[in-house]
Amino acid sequence: MNASELEVRTQADHRCAVVVDAPQHSGLESTLDYLSERSLAPGSLVRVPLGRRELLGIVWDRAEPSGRDLWRVRDAPATMTLRAVIEVLDALPVLPTAWRELVSFAATYYQRSPGELALAVLPPELRKLSAATLTRRLVRLRTRLAQSAAAGAVHEPAARAARPEPSAEQALALAALAADASAAVTLLHGSTGSGKTEVYLREAERALDAGRQALVLVPEINLTPQLEARFIERFPARRVVSLHSGLAPAQRLNHWLLALLGEADLVLGTRLAVFAPLPRLGLIVVDEEHDPSYKQQEGARYSARDLAVVRGRIEQVPVLLGSATPSLESWHNALPAAAGGAGRYRRLSLASRIGGGALPTLKVVDMSRLPREQLRASPLAPPLLAALGQRIARGEQSLVFLNRRGYAPVLQCTECGWQSGCPHCSAWRVFHKLDRSLRCHHCGFAERVPRACPDCGNADIQPVGRGTERLEEQLAELLPGARVARIDADTARRSGALELALQRVHAGEVDVLVGTQMIAKGHDFRRITLVAAVNPDAALFSSDFRAPERQFALLLQVAGRAGRDAEHAAGAEMWVQTWHPQHPLYAALRRHDYAAFASSQLDERRAAGLPPYAHLALLRADARTQAVAQGWLQAVSEAGAELAQRLQVTLYSPVPLSVQRVADVERAQMLVECVSRPALQHFLSAWREVLQGKRTEQKGLLRWAVDVDPLAI
Ligand code: ADP
Ligand code: ZN
Ligand code: ZN
Repeated sequence: MNASELEVRTQADHRCAVVVDAPQHSGLESTLDYLSERSLAPGSLVRVPLGRRELLGIVWDRAEPSGRDLWRVRDAPATMTLRAVIEVLDALPVLPTAWRELVSFAATYYQRSPGELALAVLPPELRKLSAATLTRRLVRLRTRLAQSAAAGAVHEPAARAARPEPSAEQALALAALAADASAAVTLLHGSTGSGKTEVYLREAERALDAGRQALVLVPEINLTPQLEARFIERFPARRVVSLHSGLAPAQRLNHWLLALLGEADLVLGTRLAVFAPLPRLGLIVVDEEHDPSYKQQEGARYSARDLAVVRGRIEQVPVLLGSATPSLESWHNALPAAAGGAGRYRRLSLASRIGGGALPTLKVVDMSRLPREQLRASPLAPPLLAALGQRIARGEQSLVFLNRRGYAPVLQCTECGWQSGCPHCSAWRVFHKLDRSLRCHHCGFAERVPRACPDCGNADIQPVGRGTERLEEQLAELLPGARVARIDADTARRSGALELALQRVHAGEVDVLVGTQMIAKGHDFRRITLVAAVNPDAALFSSDFRAPERQFALLLQVAGRAGRDAEHAAGAEMWVQTWHPQHPLYAALRRHDYAAFASSQLDERRAAGLPPYAHLALLRADARTQAVAQGWLQAVSEAGAELAQRLQVTLYSPVPLSVQRVADVERAQMLVECVSRPALQHFLSAWREVLQGKRTEQKGLLRWAVDVDPLAI
């Protein structure tokens, strides 16, 4: 012990419990104790020493001595050996109690340590700041706030006057929301263009008028600017800030500070924003609540949609979930008990499109009836091609949807059959023609296309199958003179490229837009009257039980891009090219009948004992070989078998993932299932000690992770 620590020990006699960023594997499960000169309120940000490092930490509630293992202070250290807090970032208000409650809940539920989760959802920039630099930054921020407050408020009445009168359906929904003030969850079900966003705006207005803050979650960064613009236009005198990982670090910190200080009235963000500290929170909106992007896929694998509901309960504020195709979980929660549902949420519907815009008529092309030569000659069936031609002649726009980027998913040697596999993954490398590269979409490994077959030297290597890049090229050939454009993750890579492409579409400079699911979401295209899904069948036969649900949502979303403008809506069409025209998914799509589709899917889920009628967790293991990964899963399965049986938890056999090797790592998983959520939770938290213990026993195990409520299995 050195001199300075001795000194501290005599002065500082307040003990505080602190969480730091310690992953579950390190064994630092709980809070760590430190000494401080004065008593620190829970929620204070501090810098503390840990080993030789200096870490940002948060003062947490002291663990209950009788509390769960999770909270046990390991080897509770005597005061003598405790180290002192380095400094307190006390220019900041403490993080609200409700915020800590949310983080604690999420950490327990998703099987992580509270410190890991808490620090992961704070702006990264915060870790770099000392108390002094933070204080300076806050002074600057407050000065700027004072200046901007002096300019502003005059526009508000004009914006209010300009907002549309609610439609009859919107008025009913708004009345229902206003009438039942008790904090609750509402599922707002309405097709694209039915005016859901307008309902969010009105509800936000009510919250802001009551002096509260509103939190609005969207699934993707790309969708924030559009929605942000709409909120700013409606509330010009209010402070609207965005929170997502695309912001510059300093900007993200500033927006987060504005939220915490109560200066931001409206926070708009992606999944991480569900953790924005908001002292005056009055409303939570989750737009496109079904979207898989709300589930974090690494670290703490939380669902922001589910946490929004939890947060609403903790803070006693209403939660509004909106979607044209709600997740089956939410739909089940919103179905009344009499209809076999859980009756937990209120359901409100907006049945028709604003302004009478019609949903497109479905045209199904039976690909199995087309002659082979035709299939080979064109990616689009002749009647679809003709329909595209008509739209172009009429000056209308079309959208062709193919959820696969690149030129072709694989290259093949015409002589020996060599295919462009990835040497590091059990997957093909995709051919990208623009830069003549073969790129693995799993590990990123890229090479120039070889001149000749690496196996036999044959110079004739051919693309097999089709991605958006090839589709764009083929459409340009098949529709001479047409202006064909493409939007996907490849074209959008350069910053600003996506905005530019979208602008061109809106300005009418594009006749046919080719794209992946990137163009399916949110965009308000006014002149599109035809949408086509070129190859939507794959999801029908996926091993993932959620694939049909996702595909239906996606196709309905794509359909929603057509006929948004009443002027062009008549005659709007959606074309589907399929080998399985009789599939019930397409029948439901034809009628735009989400409820019927949901009901048939829920019947299947009930019969199969799948969510929402049972609850799942996945245990994943990565290793250099499948034997090691699966061996470890088997060992922890055996070690947990007795408890599992007692709690009626089913442990399935370990299996490789569908793409089993990525970047030379073999991946395996094991499904854990239980009808009761509390029993599953109980099992998982007790099992965690086993997982940690067995980790050290299995040589060659690289990592493991628990995914609670996994989206893809
Ligand atoms: P959604 O969020 O369900 O896709 P929006 O709220 O974006 O629907 O509404 C679709 C379009 O209709 C938008 O251009 C919006 O400005 C407009 N709109 C919404 N509500 C009304 C209304 N009550 N009167 C007139 N136009 C409306
Ligand atoms: Zn060859
Ligand atoms: Zn790879």
